Amino acid sequence: MHYANTIQAAQLKKHVYTLASDEFEGRETGTAGQDKAAAYISTYYESLGMKPANNSGWYQTYPLKRETNLGSRAETMNQKFTFPDHFYFFGMDAMELQTKQIVFAGYGIRDKRHNDYKKIQNLESNTWVMCLQGEPINKKGKSKITGSNETSDWNDDIFLKAEAARKAGASVLLVVNTNYEMYMRRVRYWLEQPRMILERDQKKTDANEIPIIYVSPVFANALLKESGVTVESIQEKLNKGKMTKPVVLQESVLFHVEQKVERIEAENVLAFIEGSDPKLKEEVVVVSAHYDHVGIINGQIHNGADDDASGTSAAMEIGEAFYTAAKEGKGSRRSVLILHVSGEEKGLLGSEWYSDHPVYPLTTTVCDLNIDMIGRIDPEHKDSNYVYLIGSDKLSTDLHRISEQCNQTYTNLVLDYTYNSPDDPNRFYYRSDHYNFAKHNIPVIFYFSGVHEDYHKPGDDAPKILYNKMETITRLVFHTAWDVANRDQRLKVDVISDFKN
Ligand SMILES: [Zn+2]
Repeated sequence: MHYANTIQAAQLKKHVYTLASDEFEGRETGTAGQDKAAAYISTYYESLGMKPANNSGWYQTYPLKRETNLGSRAETMNQKFTFPDHFYFFGMDAMELQTKQIVFAGYGIRDKRHNDYKKIQNLESNTWVMCLQGEPINKKGKSKITGSNETSDWNDDIFLKAEAARKAGASVLLVVNTNYEMYMRRVRYWLEQPRMILERDQKKTDANEIPIIYVSPVFANALLKESGVTVESIQEKLNKGKMTKPVVLQESVLFHVEQKVERIEAENVLAFIEGSDPKLKEEVVVVSAHYDHVGIINGQIHNGADDDASGTSAAMEIGEAFYTAAKEGKGSRRSVLILHVSGEEKGLLGSEWYSDHPVYPLTTTVCDLNIDMIGRIDPEHKDSNYVYLIGSDKLSTDLHRISEQCNQTYTNLVLDYTYNSPDDPNRFYYRSDHYNFAKHNIPVIFYFSGVHEDYHKPGDDAPKILYNKMETITRLVFHTAWDVANRDQRLKVDVISDFKN
């Protein structure tokens, strides 16, 4: 498709050099640098003659909270605990919480196959419930709730457990994270920084919602000390499929939640190219890339040339190619949305917001082709002519086939599927914005050229990017998007995903 030729290394280079210049201060979400990047992207589309698709302009603005922990701590009768060494939480304003009675309710599940609340109801006022994270899983890895290797919603959605606890009369839910140390290794840094979370949707927020605090097994066992049981003994019994009696603890516990909470806004930038076929233009092919990065850390600007000025620039050029075709009366039959999200480095927040508040309905969203880091070469490869593809075969055999065919016909890259395995310890499938589409059963491909020594370091700079490589990968994404946007049949979703969070 000759519009692919409008995608040129020189233009990609110009965008990367601009977005990854010091002027943009590392594009951290919620800062002036991010705003500048958003303006650069939308101004570019405007300069091409494009118009914002909806009345609200180029931006989808979404609300965030920035929380800074100021030394939250907890006290029991004779011990003190600190954040995040032994407990953590998300999205709580500064407050004090105190109780004299806690009920340990197993896994905190209220389900036909496993009900921890059989003997727990009408709790006295200001009683807290404590429960284990997850659900009963036997030695063979089978969930007691689903009877298979798949976990249930009780495992995945903490708000279900909070609701069950609230219905029993609890005023706070303590959740014992039995993998506390392993989890902390991953998130401690993030918990100790000022961190961002989405302001929860008013619509979804239940006025009666109760606070959720995660505690370590050490903390929980200190509370259980007089009871004759431990977190481990309860968990072992429950995992064998047995039930445990609720344990009532007469313990005084006090949490001082000391947090500064600032409310801020961030933007996704949306460029929409309407399809030419009246019957198909309701259907939307999404090409996404995050334009935010990690900002200034210890006084050093992290320019994020590869992560993800590379994907951002690629998406802009793909947008230009589709727009040029449309302008010349040869546009794609389906519509195309170039979705530039922010908040990725804070936990995929911009794409989560978009998929919760889709500007174009998810039911008519055909796929998401997500580009995150395509400008470097990783230590696993000697030749730069490759790209990792992740997710292409996970929901739609059509998409995988189209992607392979486009590469064969046009780009001849080595398509590396190393990270496509669900068991891959890097878990890349969950780590960029496509995941917020995949979780809604929308087929995705994640394009990625791997991590390198400058990943999330100040050295991720524009001169180190391989612009010819970028051009080839960008063209592959374009050809794939073009095929998906023009074929008679919408992509079939015909694979049951083996991924679960
Ligand atoms: Zn990234």
